[in-house]
Amino acid sequence: MAKTPITVAHGDGIGPEIMAATLHILEAAGAQLDIETIEIGEKVYLRGNSSGIEQSSIDSLLRTKVFLKAPITTPQGGGFKSLNVTTRKMLGLYANVRPCVAYHPFVQTKHQGMDVVIVRENEEDLYAGIEYQLSADVTQSLKLITRRGTERIVRYAFEYAKANGRKKVTCFTKDNIMKISDGLFHKVFDEIAKEYPEIENEHWIVDIGAAKLADTPGVFDVIVMPNLYGDILSDVAAQIAGSVGLAGSSNIGTKYAMFEAIHGSAPRRAGQNLANPSGLLLGGVMMLAHIGQTEVAQRVHNAWLKTLEDGVHTYDIFKEGVSKQKVGTKEFADAVAANVGKLPEFLKPVQYKELPVLPEPKMPHYDKIEQIGVDIFVNWTAGTASQLGPQIAALGTDKLKLIFISNRGTKVYPNAFGDPVTADQWRCRFEGTLGDVTQEDILALYTSFVKGGFAIIKSEGLFFYDGQRGYSLGQGQ
Ligand code: NAD
Repeated sequence: MAKTPITVAHGDGIGPEIMAATLHILEAAGAQLDIETIEIGEKVYLRGNSSGIEQSSIDSLLRTKVFLKAPITTPQGGGFKSLNVTTRKMLGLYANVRPCVAYHPFVQTKHQGMDVVIVRENEEDLYAGIEYQLSADVTQSLKLITRRGTERIVRYAFEYAKANGRKKVTCFTKDNIMKISDGLFHKVFDEIAKEYPEIENEHWIVDIGAAKLADTPGVFDVIVMPNLYGDILSDVAAQIAGSVGLAGSSNIGTKYAMFEAIHGSAPRRAGQNLANPSGLLLGGVMMLAHIGQTEVAQRVHNAWLKTLEDGVHTYDIFKEGVSKQKVGTKEFADAVAANVGKLPEFLKPVQYKELPVLPEPKMPHYDKIEQIGVDIFVNWTAGTASQLGPQIAALGTDKLKLIFISNRGTKVYPNAFGDPVTADQWRCRFEGTLGDVTQEDILALYTSFVKGGFAIIKSEGLFFYDGQRGYSLGQGQ
């Protein structure tokens, strides 16, 4: 078999020890790797590079397209950019995959039957980093969910389930509140689920889904979710499965992929031959499956399961009465390497299949996109909503009339909905006749605002897409 080029970073803290252990096991199992080594992390940051990675290392990643990364230490103090976020964005790694598995009775766990894979969307949602202070009182972060980004991640989740013999894919969203953004995620999930009739599918509202996951994780198999929920719940799931030292993760893009342990560089344990290399090793196993060396991936994973069963454990999972031998990083790696070719007797052996190349989602198309109006946001502190209302209504033009003013989403004029507490930012919704609103009409309204002495702090167009409203109604409208 031809060797596959990969880029390897040994990282900081326990990184070099667990990477050496991981590479030793992968090689013992027959992995065919052509390794380019790069330096990332603390030393690079402290040389004055705020992103923690040199251009020559980025070139290596662009060349090999596959990155096996040990944890790094981000130095204390400001100004250092997260290397993980940089890598994710730079390489378009849209899927974060985290298997969270309990290894009862060999490793202590509160959830014996847990075997959940979290598939987190990695690029969109609130992580676009588009934030504003809009007024003295109001800040805003934009939550972006695209149809194509959702298609990509949901299809990945189903293909992952199919390749790994999993039975069910669950989707978590909060679409009862965010009907348009999370609503799209849920809708696309339902559409794509139909293409996989052999795999069960279901949707949970994220709050009750999260509670169920923390309480009874055994009912879930693969869970796919938008970025923020996935960020939080993948940590919860990994934590409740057992030791943080045991979980690996992959970050997958259309061209590039990165594999790592979920834990950090554990600096207090560094240099003592203590750390558990399992998280990085399982990241390495996911890498082998990704580059098509599925049989080697299987051999390594099964040898590792057998070693857990043998009771050969590092300090973090060692338990008197269950474990048989407390070993260091190197000895653990030797034990796994010696078990290559063996299958576990009690834990379920794993089988890997390569995922197919996924189709690039098409840009969505609508025959008719029509504007009906615009929301104009202004900053105003000179009085109450009932004083502001007539002034804003007077700014309306022949084509665009005031429909309502809302504050923090709730209608305050005309006829306030209840007695809401208000901030200093007001959203003024103007509408005309669908299909009869032009850019000149919008401009005339902006001009009317400026002439009326109101500074526009932002505006949003109100559109219909093939007859479907593309914006939410005001609360109380
Ligand atoms: P950590 O994950 O390094 O450590 C948390 C706890 O788990 C510690 O008690 C540690 O001893 C233990 N632990 C972690 N991995 C272990 C292993 N393989 N074997 C045995 N025990 C293990 O988290 P932290 O202490 O919050 O962070 C330390 C450093 O790691 C920080 O600089 C942080 O920025 C960095 N970090 C890096 C990554 C990454 O590179 N992907 C991720 C998280 C944290």
